[in-house]
Amino acid sequence: MPASFDVLVPGSSIAFHGGFFGISAIVMVTSGGRRALFDVGHGVTRKMLIDALAARGLSPADIDLIVLSHCHFDHVLNLDLFPGRPMIMSRDERNYIEDPFAHDWVTPRFVPALLEGRELRLTEGEEEILPDVIAFPTPGHSPGHISLELATEDGPTVLAADALKTAREASTGIPDLEFDPQKRGRASLQEVLRRGRTIVPGHFPPFKADERGKLTWSDVQELPLILR
Ligand SMILES: [Zn+2]
Repeated sequence: MPASFDVLVPGSSIAFHGGFFGISAIVMVTSGGRRALFDVGHGVTRKMLIDALAARGLSPADIDLIVLSHCHFDHVLNLDLFPGRPMIMSRDERNYIEDPFAHDWVTPRFVPALLEGRELRLTEGEEEILPDVIAFPTPGHSPGHISLELATEDGPTVLAADALKTAREASTGIPDLEFDPQKRGRASLQEVLRRGRTIVPGHFPPFKADERGKLTWSDVQELPLILR
């Protein structure tokens, strides 16, 4: 059985003047009889995540493994839903969160406390973390950012997280928010595009790439807006 994925919470880039809603994609990966979550999302999507699992007959207890792309607040705040679950992130990101850049306003300084007591596997470079699931470094947006490449029935699929957040980044090749002063984000973005025939961005519906690399997407995103 090849690896498969299921977008539990669709990423979007809905913003308002002075802020944004922090809706990052939360993707369930199934491979080798195990279920992993790639990122756990923001508190604002906590109920969406629980409801999405329930709609599949699952609860947080059915998730075997948590993989973090990076530690921005919109990707990590539901970690407590998965107590005791083993986790994977990069060694670079684990080191980074102990002393984030002063200009980094999206990495909460309390993230190390969220990881206390966790069984943590730290990746270095490219590593197979489950059968047919490779974690590879995509630094730039954050110094230790990782993305996942899955061998699926539909070909290579990249779960990019914030190494490729939106269609605009894919078309311009320029990352919007690059906190790492080493400026490796453009190369990471290209690496995501090079590897994936299907790409799940961090804040946009999934893309399909044709043989020439032309990207298309067909998903219509519906997000009811309730004002009160
Ligand atoms: Zn981010």
